[in-house]
Amino acid sequence: MNYDVLIIGAGASGLYCACRILSESRVRLGIIDSNDSVGKKLLMTGAGRCNISNYDMDPRFYMTDSPDMLARLLRHHDEKVSLDFFRDELGVLMAERDDKLCYPATYRSDTVVNAMRNYLIDNDADFIMNTQVYSISRDDGGFTVNGSLHSKTIVIAVGGASYSRTGSNGSILKLAAPFTGSGDIAPLYPALVPLKTMEKDITSISGARAYCDLNLYEDSRTDKVLAESSGEILFTQYGVSGICVLDISGYAIKAMTEGKRPVLSVNLLKMSYPKARVEVETNLLNFPDRSPSQALNGLIRDDILAIILGRLNLTEVRHASDLSRADIDNITGCMISFKLTITGSLSFDNAQITTGGIMLSSVNDQMELKSTPGLFICGEALNCNGICGGYNLQFCWSSASAAAEGVLSCLN
Ligand SMILES: Cc1cc2nc3c(=O)[nH]c(=O)nc-3n(C[C@H](O)[C@H](O)[C@H](O)COP(=O)(O)OP(=O)(O)OC[C@H]3O[C@@H](n4cnc5c(N)ncnc54)[C@H](O)[C@@H]3O)c2cc1C
Repeated sequence: MNYDVLIIGAGASGLYCACRILSESRVRLGIIDSNDSVGKKLLMTGAGRCNISNYDMDPRFYMTDSPDMLARLLRHHDEKVSLDFFRDELGVLMAERDDKLCYPATYRSDTVVNAMRNYLIDNDADFIMNTQVYSISRDDGGFTVNGSLHSKTIVIAVGGASYSRTGSNGSILKLAAPFTGSGDIAPLYPALVPLKTMEKDITSISGARAYCDLNLYEDSRTDKVLAESSGEILFTQYGVSGICVLDISGYAIKAMTEGKRPVLSVNLLKMSYPKARVEVETNLLNFPDRSPSQALNGLIRDDILAIILGRLNLTEVRHASDLSRADIDNITGCMISFKLTITGSLSFDNAQITTGGIMLSSVNDQMELKSTPGLFICGEALNCNGICGGYNLQFCWSSASAAAEGVLSCLN
């Protein structure tokens, strides 16, 4: 079979790339996937509601090897262009909301998957399902896939290695290998993933949640902040989770791969030290006969405070009035900087996204591999991952649009 373009991967980026191409030209397009149906991971996004994009789009919300290239991509293929396409061509309206998060008006991810699948059916795309791609090679007229399918151009949209049960199993490394050198690929690691911590005292508060500000330090000896976030932290048997933790997890994992031992500092009061010191002291003075835990109960959960008092060897103190000034300093310090040493993360199967993949610096602005004209890459297979909030799907839409543009100019 001969195609003008073969897209490998019928996830968010592959489907969207196919729609963009067919909206411009009636080319012979095939889309291949190892699954029996399209958009398996896309269906799971936003807990089935699909946080499709974000109106506060900025490269600083992403980790990548080339922020400049990402900035150009997000400028030329911004969220407005993507969402207009969803509305005007695919018939998907967006919900009106007061925040910056963007969801389909139905709050259903199957709306998004069905809209793209139906558009491709209407426009005569060839679906080649239940087909694992194991080889891509160059031939005279373009490329040969699995030794039998021929195409003038190829788009690799196979995702990363997260949630492998949805089909993305790291095959980008094998498929791109004939066309890339070691400098073109960043190793794959899980990101947007819960983190494991060294301190065992937090197992006693497994299941507890708290609003906080987070600072991730490179290690315990430096004050170099790698990442910051805010939100609700969830303490677990193995460590910590919650969106604010997921958002900084990629930075923690990168630091660990560089041999660092990153430390998370949890500000449980969301206050500066001087302000927190006043609040702590005021409560202790107001309730001198209570235990420290009961005196401070209005500021912090008592089970977390029990851990803090344990760390400071103050568990036996019976009355707030028995605490020294130094004790109050230390309690305040621990409340605004509750330290957790990061030792690892949960696996790819618990990671919403993959960090690593084909370097952005190895593709041009149309996502064409610089070493291999006619071979395009988009979506999570590229070395670019964002925080939670619609950023990863927007990267799919933007990179897929750019790849579609590249395919069309290649074919003309
Ligand atoms: C639980 C969860 C919730 C999420 N929620 C959000 C959210 O709300 N908002 C957001 O922005 N992002 C979210 N994400 C991230 C988002 O889902 C991904 O960024 C996005 O799906 C990546 O799309 P992709 O097309 O690049 O890869 P994928 O969706 O992984 O698609 C790749 C496709 O390629 C196929 N494939 C792989 N290798 C081969 C091969 N060798 N041969 C044939 N086919 C192959 C796979 O079967 C798969 O269908 C979430 C992720 C998860 C896991």
